[in-house]
Amino acid sequence: MRSGLSTLILLAAITVAAKAQEAVPFPAPKTEPPIVTPGKANSDPPSDAIVLFNGKDLSQWRGADGAPAKWIVRDGYVEVAAGTGDISTAQQFGNVQLHIEWATPTIPRGEGQERGNSGVFLMGRYEVQVLDSYDNKTYYHGQAGAVYKQYAPLVNVSRKPGEWQAYDIIFKAPKFDEQGKVVDRARVTVLHNGVLIQNNVEIYGITYNDRPALYIAHAPEESLRLQDHGNPVRYRNIWIRRL
Ligand code: MG
Repeated sequence: MRSGLSTLILLAAITVAAKAQEAVPFPAPKTEPPIVTPGKANSDPPSDAIVLFNGKDLSQWRGADGAPAKWIVRDGYVEVAAGTGDISTAQQFGNVQLHIEWATPTIPRGEGQERGNSGVFLMGRYEVQVLDSYDNKTYYHGQAGAVYKQYAPLVNVSRKPGEWQAYDIIFKAPKFDEQGKVVDRARVTVLHNGVLIQNNVEIYGITYNDRPALYIAHAPEESLRLQDHGNPVRYRNIWIRRL
């Protein structure tokens, strides 16, 4: 009995140790995404969607360590309460279609990454950048709609600060083998204000800001996370469909 338990503990330790993968170098984009003017309409949830935010409460969301989410709900939207931390869904998801609307602060403050920064972290790890990218220069794979530090958007279809924008995201979760090695990388397609900006790109790993992307094995379903980057970015009409 005891030796069986010891073997189990040893196996668990080996599994944990084996999870980190080597970082793979990849080129940074060198050309700026062209600017495109979006159409007007956004989108309501279809009948089979899970509504994650309907404009009224954060019952589907949690703060760090499962504490209540502290962002501010008013007038049908939720606003990042700077310094209160990221919020994550109570439910976990793998392959999904996600619709999420967002608006950066009406009075733009800061430059580059400091202006209207937030982010949509699929499975809590893979960021589609939210940023005020209307007349605001930054590195191309850090602007709105970028797979952060990996892929620039195909075009910059950003609306002005304070105007509602939409992402429609189709995400395929990565797969790992029993040793925790990635055998099928995550993929993502993103429409920004109805315009294709990421076309089924293969994600290189966790979208770190300060080190190379890499995969670390995780569960087949994980929480969706929204980023508190210190800017009062707003969200509304968030719905998701499991695929
Ligand atoms: Mg961000």
